[in-house]
Amino acid sequence: MPIKRAIFDKKNILIIGGAGFIGSHLCDELAKIDKVICIDNFLTGSEGNISHLLENPDFKFINHDIVNFIDLEKQAELRNFKIEFQGLQEIYYLASPASPKAYSKMPIESLLDNSVGLRNALDLAVKYKAQFFYASSSTVYGDTSGKKLIQENYVGPSDHLAVRAVFSEAKRFGETLVQSYRLKYDIDAKIARIFNCYGPRLKLSDGRMIPEMIRQAISGEDIIIYGDKNSFGSYFYINDLIKVITKLMRSPEFGPVNLASDWKNTYSEIAQKIIAITKAPVKIKYEKPLDIMGEQPIADIALAKEALGWFPVVLLDEGLKKTIDYLSAQKDIEEPEQLIK
Ligand code: NAD
Repeated sequence: MPIKRAIFDKKNILIIGGAGFIGSHLCDELAKIDKVICIDNFLTGSEGNISHLLENPDFKFINHDIVNFIDLEKQAELRNFKIEFQGLQEIYYLASPASPKAYSKMPIESLLDNSVGLRNALDLAVKYKAQFFYASSSTVYGDTSGKKLIQENYVGPSDHLAVRAVFSEAKRFGETLVQSYRLKYDIDAKIARIFNCYGPRLKLSDGRMIPEMIRQAISGEDIIIYGDKNSFGSYFYINDLIKVITKLMRSPEFGPVNLASDWKNTYSEIAQKIIAITKAPVKIKYEKPLDIMGEQPIADIALAKEALGWFPVVLLDEGLKKTIDYLSAQKDIEEPEQLIK
């Protein structure tokens, strides 16, 4: 499918869920060159993630719930983007609660974001013939027990009534919807299955493993590992993810493509590194895995390597150090109303 280029010097790019963790880093990267419209309703994101961009004339924020229809050409603040003439060239769809705490607390929002909200965004892609990026998730693979390496063609069993089902079912439906739009309307709509990514702008409070371990260390609490000494996962740093998303949008590949690290780290090793960097006088404790936790699959990233010439390069020590620096500074200022209890 041919990649459509803007006829103007700068592209108009729409990032939905742009005030969240991944979305805000994407806003930073894309606003360096092009014009970026960020839509977010602060369901789990925060203004602090994008406040430094608000003075940039090529960046506009719209507080809107994407589950409701939006006509961009009627938004007064977008007048300078001349959408009626220049259209939209790229749309990135990142709107969805993403952490176990968030999607368990917001099951209906998770389902609507990945269905009704996604449909509204895809309709914009059809209207403007824009390239489309959908942030799916490794959760679509369902139960991966016994599988060593997950390739994109693995169709795993998935229990649609399990505790995690609101997220996995929402993402599975979302992928089917994106593919149907690609086939019916011939739009260049891409599906990325993102595995565990970490970095600055994650929240201390929303229960994802790395920020939670950091929170415990900098608060002087023992670090809890839900598993044993051999439990492992794989984590990659946000800068690597932003790099591969932009590569995917500039390639003819439409996926689904696993975006992940294929390095394995035990949770104990991660906790030890966090203790070493923070110099916190805390211990590691092991507890039974929580119901909401699924087994962590390791991704086969051969497709991303071959089709996109990408693999993660940021080492865990470097990524953890930057994340710890950010979260330590954030400790006293994270807005209490945004904490997901
Ligand atoms: P996040 O919670 O930080 O960001 C999601 C953003 O979307 C938030 O700013 C939130 O306010 C916004 N949002 C949610 N519903 C909305 C709505 N109806 N209208 C407008 N804005 C809305 O999460 P994240 O970690 O940045 O994840 C972004 C996407 O990537 C999600 O779809 C998630 O499922 C997917 N993903 C992330 C990871 C990861 O490691 N971070 C892994 C797999 C998949």
